[in-house]
Amino acid sequence: MEVLKESGQREVFCGLTSIVWLHRRMPDAFFLVVGSRTCAHLIQSAAGVMIFAEPRFGTAILGERDLAGLADANAELDRLVTDLLARRPEIRTLFLVGSCPSEVIKLDLAKAAERLNERLVGRVRVVNYSGSGIETTFTQGEDQALTALVPLLPAGDQRQLLLVGTLADAVEDRFLTLFERLGVGPVLSLPPRRSTELPPVGPGTQALLCQPFLGSTARALQARGVTLLPAPYPLGVEGSRRWFETAAAAFGIDPAHTAAVLDPLVARGQAAVAPHRRQLEGKRLFLLPDSQMEPALARFLHRECGMELVEVGTPYLDRTLQQPELDLLPPGTALSEGQHLERQLERVRAARPDLVVCGMGLANPLEAEGIATKWSIELVFSPIHGCDQAGDLAELFARPLRRRASLAFA
Ligand code: SF4
Repeated sequence: MEVLKESGQREVFCGLTSIVWLHRRMPDAFFLVVGSRTCAHLIQSAAGVMIFAEPRFGTAILGERDLAGLADANAELDRLVTDLLARRPEIRTLFLVGSCPSEVIKLDLAKAAERLNERLVGRVRVVNYSGSGIETTFTQGEDQALTALVPLLPAGDQRQLLLVGTLADAVEDRFLTLFERLGVGPVLSLPPRRSTELPPVGPGTQALLCQPFLGSTARALQARGVTLLPAPYPLGVEGSRRWFETAAAAFGIDPAHTAAVLDPLVARGQAAVAPHRRQLEGKRLFLLPDSQMEPALARFLHRECGMELVEVGTPYLDRTLQQPELDLLPPGTALSEGQHLERQLERVRAARPDLVVCGMGLANPLEAEGIATKWSIELVFSPIHGCDQAGDLAELFARPLRRRASLAFA
């Protein structure tokens, strides 16, 4: 498959955005962004938390004196962390999250974490990673956070399945029940629900990624002896089925038993997708690069919903993680990696697709030009994994088409 590689102006959210779903996943962790007021606004508005709530994230704001190198930012940070931990004794893991400003002034957060860990040993674990927009797109924030956790995972030899990537709790519960019925286990998760209950890993661990944007985490796990199970992602009925089948095969489960467990779910999922397929079938889809979920979404929307793929863009194309998805795309699919915003928008305007999947910043201008859009960020905030969610996933794409059709009718 030919891939058009592009580089130029990008239109994506930075990795700080992933704090929104990470802080919900680990209620005993706190994410302290070391950044500017812009970073604080971004995270505050993305998470939509009221000012009087006790959120589990915050921003240590670098003022002008810090940025000009006139103040000792490290001393300020230590003072702020001390105050925070005194007020919030429930915090067990503190993530220090780097930003563009902290990187520009070369504030060494790894050293800061080391220093704070020495002081807080036995009470709070301090971990650092970068969410800066210089280095990351919005889903890569999770990849960076999990990569930072990998060296802290205890060593363990037991044979087990490790699910890697944040799932909605209800979806994860359903998955755990399914794995039990399949006879696959024990099953552990990274990130865990409690930040202190880090799963042990070692040569007996087989990892199944829940999200396609965790390349750096996957490589760090492989360096710990973990085997990565290559599979399409559990989006849509087909992806979910193949994902579970991959795990079952790795654990030596009889394929007839796997089919007996999965068949009813597949039938239910297909029935839930059917009404949305009627709306999506034959419609032309353009995916702009944003989340690295694009190949998996394109596969679902083409194979299960009958959409035509005009172009599938992705910010990075990690072949190790994406090959099982690329294998399922129709031959000749136009794939692009990276972003050159102007050129991509020219291609969108020339193709006049029925639906564009894009970042929030591009949605309104495209809607104003008469093109229906779907925010890609909604796909990481919604529970879309598994056969049971396939109908809801299809609905997310059918809704903007329905809305546009009713506006045209009105
Ligand atoms: S980390 Fe960078 S891109 Fe993200 S909000 Fe802060 S300044 Fe903006």
